[in-house]
Amino acid sequence: MKQNMISRRVVIKTLLGGATIPFINEAQGDEAPLLNENDTAAKSMHYVSDASRAKDAKPGSKCANCSLYTGDSKSTQAVCTLFGTKQVLANGWCEAWTNL
Ligand code: SF4
Repeated sequence: MKQNMISRRVVIKTLLGGATIPFINEAQGDEAPLLNENDTAAKSMHYVSDASRAKDAKPGSKCANCSLYTGDSKSTQAVCTLFGTKQVLANGWCEAWTNL
């Protein structure tokens, strides 16, 4: 039910032209579900919850130092903007890793 309320508020803010991104992060950041490696979207991007298991990862690359990770340096998990409102583990990795 709470999820429906958030979605409704996001839609209303979007229609009114309000800033939705900070709202989404504030409202759903800690409450967002954790991305599962077996999710279709995760599989398509070869997401793993432990970067040491990613054979294509550049040494040292992981979600915590990816530009799409919204957590701070002390977080263990946070929303990844690539996966919408799902959280990823700080030690995770996927093939979209970028550090601009
Ligand atoms: Fe992690 Fe970045 Fe991939 Fe998101 S885009 S899962 S933060 S490596």
